[in-house]
Amino acid sequence: MSIRTFLKRFTAARYLDREIRLLQYVLGKPDCRLLPPAYCHCCSEFTWRYWSDKYEQTLRTLVPKWHLGTDYVDYMIKRENVFCANCKSVSRMRLHAKTILRLFKFRNVNQFVKFLETNPSFIIYEAARYHIFRHEKIKSLKNYIVSEYYPSRTFGGEIKGVLNEDLQKLSFKNETFDLIITSEVLEHVAHLSRALNEIRRVLKPSGYHVFTIPIDYSLPKTQTRAVLLKNGRIKHILPPAIHGDDISSGSLAFRDFGLDTHKLLEHHSFEVQDKNSVFITQKK
Ligand SMILES: [Zn+2]
Repeated sequence: MSIRTFLKRFTAARYLDREIRLLQYVLGKPDCRLLPPAYCHCCSEFTWRYWSDKYEQTLRTLVPKWHLGTDYVDYMIKRENVFCANCKSVSRMRLHAKTILRLFKFRNVNQFVKFLETNPSFIIYEAARYHIFRHEKIKSLKNYIVSEYYPSRTFGGEIKGVLNEDLQKLSFKNETFDLIITSEVLEHVAHLSRALNEIRRVLKPSGYHVFTIPIDYSLPKTQTRAVLLKNGRIKHILPPAIHGDDISSGSLAFRDFGLDTHKLLEHHSFEVQDKNSVFITQKK
């Protein structure tokens, strides 16, 4: 047997072994339904997916309390379900990953990582810890910078080995990044204009900010849910909408984005494209 044949068989055996393990994992999960395998743009694998009935139920109970449009609950359920058995990404994250890969003409995450390895001056900032692309090698890249948000700690420093950044007051120099990625973040910043101005400031000329936000398509205008007062207290205008995230029990949404989102972004000097609710904005 040639080395190539051996390696091919070895790779196929490893793939099969992993798929059997993942299948067992999904079948053993309570309140989940197995879905046919498909390609995942977050981890670059063709693998099993599953629907979480439990998560659907959580959203059906939680989201109506936010008093949004009648289609909003189903919109959220579709976006936030269909888990990849391998990397646990949901539909929204995969669409986000796919949009970025398409924008820069990469076939998959492996090609994207190779490009970053050989082009250290191309710098990316993701305002979450490796949320969109699930590739082990990304973690060792110096030109893929990530941060989390710990509001009670000093910004600009590291906490548990990860940068602590406030999008409204970033610690980075002007024109540092070619691409900024935020995922379901802009609804949680108290001062949207400050965050957009900061994103614009740290982007290189013609740099991109590719992001997702939940949009209530029944709202003609973006509405304010809560306001951060000068004394640091929060004034609620609508019932508090707390969205879940990875590092805390949840984050308060300060606004619900509506149909005027394009205008809002253009007002901050971005060219805007909306790819099925993934926004590609380019610094003008
Ligand atoms: Zn995946």
